[in-house]
Amino acid sequence: MKTCIDELAILGGAPLFDSPRSIGQLYSTDVEAYLVTLKEAFDARHLTNDGPIVRRLERKLARFHGTAHCISLANAGLGITMLMQLFANGKQGEVIMPAFSYRGLPHFAQWAGQLPCFCDVDPLTHFLDPKSVESSINERTTSILGVCNFNDPGDIDGLTRIARRHNLPVFLDSVYAVGSTYKNRNLGPFTDAEVYSLHATKLLNGFEGGYITTDDDALAQKLIWQRNFALSGLKPYIENTESLFGLNAKLNEMHAAMALLSIDNIETIIDCNFSRFYAYRYGLKDINGLYLLPYKKDEQVNYQMAVVEVSAEWPLTRNQMVSLLRAEGCSISAYYSPALHRSEHCPPGLEVPDLPVTEELAEKYFQLPVGELTSTEDIEKICQLLSCIEDWGSEISVRLNQKGLS
Ligand SMILES: *Cc1c(COP(=O)(O)O)cnc(C)c1O
Repeated sequence: MKTCIDELAILGGAPLFDSPRSIGQLYSTDVEAYLVTLKEAFDARHLTNDGPIVRRLERKLARFHGTAHCISLANAGLGITMLMQLFANGKQGEVIMPAFSYRGLPHFAQWAGQLPCFCDVDPLTHFLDPKSVESSINERTTSILGVCNFNDPGDIDGLTRIARRHNLPVFLDSVYAVGSTYKNRNLGPFTDAEVYSLHATKLLNGFEGGYITTDDDALAQKLIWQRNFALSGLKPYIENTESLFGLNAKLNEMHAAMALLSIDNIETIIDCNFSRFYAYRYGLKDINGLYLLPYKKDEQVNYQMAVVEVSAEWPLTRNQMVSLLRAEGCSISAYYSPALHRSEHCPPGLEVPDLPVTEELAEKYFQLPVGELTSTEDIEKICQLLSCIEDWGSEISVRLNQKGLS
């Protein structure tokens, strides 16, 4: 417990934590259980290229998401790239995507021969705003990519209706929505395809990895062909494959074994997230000016992140809060800031519109530590620290401004 402002790490005091508290999930299974699972691949002498564990994982994930197909991948970014390439059908065009989102998206568009077309988001769900999407559709549009956020998957039906009206493919980056429901069904089957990640920091940990869910048989065959170099000898008997590029996006057995143990333990993972989220809710309830973003109430959610809004009455700026907490050993970040259309990730020279909701959101949020490296006791300490910051706010503000931190 800090007793005066000079004990804050950013002002020279000892940090609250001597090892980093992360914003990633970093779920780790028991190593013995992992080795037992992995042994199947060694026994079969089948380490990658559709091995037995990969196939078991795909079946399990398809059942979990309620889709006809699950196509496992080396990572989610490749899945997004593959879908953008495939949906463009040989055309160099634009993919509609939110600007308040994950930094990789504009890069993936360019790998797929597309440019990002940034749209605004809904102020509450942070999902693509259907009105902004509709006014951005033009003759260059090749597909629409919605991103489901951690707290609320958003108006997926609204987005799908617009896509159908304009005869455009629509797909979702649902990385943050594993285990979340929409209309009381697990995410997975609601658009042409959905992409998920198995990166160590996400809900399901396969070290690295990803997958696509879809109910479209022809699309599934194309993706399976595409992820394995699109070899002519393996070409599926389906139309419309002329403009498809292949690549190597296969998941291997080591990663699949790890991911399999995550999906087996998904309920426990979500329960632990729930405990941490509630520890924050309790710890922040008497602190004025910091508001924990709530989760959607009438659906299942995975409680994977704790995002805080810094309101105007709080004595420090969002960026000062990030610097201060980082100094204390919380390896946190601002939440989607800067927005993509104003960031280094925007292709140079791209003409971008003003996106008022996105720009406002990008100024006010930061993430708090969660996941396996953060205990509920750690969360109590963090909340005590935040309470001290509330009390000492104006003095801290003066000191940080003197240091040039605004
Ligand atoms: C992490 C992440 C990705 C990319 O996942 P990888 O498997 O690391 O490629 C894509 N979208 C969102 C929203 C993410 O958070």
